[in-house]
Formats: sequence, C-alpha cells, structure tokens
Amino acid sequence: MIDKTQYLMDTYNPENISFVKGEGVWLWDDKGNKYLDTLAGIAVMNLGHSHPEVIQALKEQAVKLMHVSNAVINPLQIALARALAKATGMEKSFFCNSGTESVEVALKIARRFGRSKGYVNPKIVTMKGAFHGRTMNSLSAANNPAQKKLFSPMMPGFIQCEFDDINVLETLLKRTTEVTAVLLEPVQGEGGVRPHSEGYLKAVRALCDQYDVLMMLDEVQTGFGRTGALYAFQHEGVLPDVVASAKGLGNGFPIGVCMAKGVAANIFKVGDHGSTYGGNPLACTVSLKVLEIMQRSGFHEHTKEMALYLTEELRTRLKNLSCVKDIRGKGLLIGIELDRPCGELKKEALRNGMVINVTCQNVIRLVPPLILDKSHCDLTLEVLCKLIKVFSRRL
Ligand code: PLP
Repeated sequence: MIDKTQYLMDTYNPENISFVKGEGVWLWDDKGNKYLDTLAGIAVMNLGHSHPEVIQALKEQAVKLMHVSNAVINPLQIALARALAKATGMEKSFFCNSGTESVEVALKIARRFGRSKGYVNPKIVTMKGAFHGRTMNSLSAANNPAQKKLFSPMMPGFIQCEFDDINVLETLLKRTTEVTAVLLEPVQGEGGVRPHSEGYLKAVRALCDQYDVLMMLDEVQTGFGRTGALYAFQHEGVLPDVVASAKGLGNGFPIGVCMAKGVAANIFKVGDHGSTYGGNPLACTVSLKVLEIMQRSGFHEHTKEMALYLTEELRTRLKNLSCVKDIRGKGLLIGIELDRPCGELKKEALRNGMVINVTCQNVIRLVPPLILDKSHCDLTLEVLCKLIKVFSRRL
C-alpha cells in the first residue's frame, strides 16, 4: 500500500479501503468484498452507482462533444436551465462544478444586490452550525470556530443567527442595517442532520419580503430528491430567491448550479462571473438524464416511503437504548445522535459489510442511494442496530 501522505496533501483521513466497482446500492472493494452503501459518496449517488441510463447518456455525449467554452452557445446548458426552471419555479441558472462554487455564486449575487441598492457594507445573515463548503467565502459564511482559528482573517460581511429560530432572525433584521440576504440549509447536514421545523421556511420568506432581503437556500445536500421532493423548499410551498445545488445533480459527475428568480436572476451582468468547465455538454447531459429519471412518476413517493420505514424502524428498534439521544432528519437524510463520539462505528460497519458516515463526531448520518428498496433498508437496520447495541454496552 502506498503511503497516502507521500503524494496527497493531508486534508482527508480516509478509511483503509478502496472501492473499485459500484452498482445500485452496492460497492465492491479491491479484494472483491461487497458493501451496502448508506453514504452514496456523501449524498451524491442518489440514483445509485452505475445507473445504466446515466452511463448511456454520458457515453453517447462523450463521443460527440465533451467540452466547449462558454464563449459559444451551449444548447445542452440552455436545455438543463429550462428543465430546472420548469421543475422548480426558479427562473435562471448559472452552472459551475461543485457545491462550494454554487454557494459562492449565491454570495456574489447577494453582494451585487447590496451594491445595487447603494449599500456600503452589505451583510449576509447565515446560520450557526451551517456548512457551505471550504473556500474562504463559504468558510466565512459558516463561521465554524475551529476553522476560523486556522484560517482567519475571515471574509467580512457575515452575521450569524440561530438556526430555526424565526424570532431571533426577525430581531436581527429589525436591528441591522444593509442586510442583503439570508442564507440557510433546509437541513443542516454536516451540522448534525438538523432539519428546520414546520413553517420555518414560510416565515423566513415572509421576513425576507418584509425587509427586502434575498432568501437564499443552500440545497447542495438536500437537493435533487434527497428529502422526498426535488428540492426541500418544495415541501413548504415557498419559492426562495436563490438556490445553490450540486451533489445529486450530477449523480457522480461534477456539476453545480446556482438558480435564481426575480431581481436575483438578473443581477449579474456580462463579466461578473464565469467558469471554464461550468455546465459543459457532458455535465449537462448527465444532469438532464438524472432530472428526467427523478421526474418519473412515483420517484419521490418511493424516497418518502423508504425514509418513513427506516426512520420508524430505527425509532422502534433503538428506543430502549440510553445512548441514542435523537433520531431525526428529512427524507433519506437521517441522523442518529448518540450521547458520545462514535467515529469508530464507521470501521465496524465496514467490517460488517456496510458503509456509514458519522458527522459532528456523534451523529450517524444515513444518506443512501434513493433507489434502495425495503430489503436494503432491512439489512441497514439489522447491521446498524446491532452495532449501536454493542456500542451502547461499551463505555
Ligand atoms: N453546502 C452544503 C450544504 C454541503 O453539504 C456541502 C458539502 O457537503 C457543500 C456546500 C460543499 O459542496 P462541495 O463539497 O461540492 O464543494
């Protein structure tokens, strides 16, 4: 085995395993062992690994044309932007390559909006516990204390607010001048799988309208079917001004998008933003296929049904364990909060043929491919509940 620190910067701490093949909800390692994947490349492989229709679309486009610059018209980009607009009610798109980049576009829209109103120090309200990516702007937006210590000075112009507390947000908007936008995740994924309470997005929308502030959602993790709707905001029947999206959008092919409506959709002028790869023919072809599959009848219903089954069974099977503090989430973004750090469970799950994830040290995060069936849920429950039961007896 090659020492990973010899050639790779030390930013990740991977498990000592490499996967060489994937199909649906399954992964195989280089020794031929098979694993049930409940992580999906961190909420990316929403249609599962090696989806035959996605691969076919990718292959057909790859032999025709992989890349053109954005200095020419790209009909596939227009087709994807149109399909997204129809599916969401948003109006215009800017394509990029990752979640962080899509958030960066949102932040630039907010700043530009502030400037257009003549603000000297435009401010963006973000939420405590948020995660928006790893660039300086997205780190500054999230304001995580540990990262702040390492990478300060942070970018200016962000104010933090309590997540899911509409009164705190209202007070903040009342008292602060030159606020241009509110940015939040409908479920704080990296922040411990924390969903907002019912009605919160509607109330945020109302406040944003009242104070002429852009409502911006980071749906990088919650978007593209993860919560049982194409986007989580659709559960509440609201329309944000700006939505950042990536991950499941490409089902493994790197693509991100920032969608906007109204004034936010028309704020950029030529030269204000750009990306060499953003929305190239290959990426757009894949996303068009992913979207088409997700729009087939019953897709989101299946996600909701599996999510309900998994969540209810977890609650029933784990209810007597004092180490389990909470089971929460939205759709197939499920968190099991334990009373202590449980990172070791990732290794134990691998030894039992399953890939799981732990976030915030003590929250097991399940983000399986949305196409899993009941038998996959049963296997997940069997392995996971056994591991948690053994873990609960340990101190
Ligand atoms: N925003 C949210 C809510 C995320 O969950 C993530 C990644 O986990 C990002 C932004 C950053 O996305 P990427 O890693 O694709 O840059």
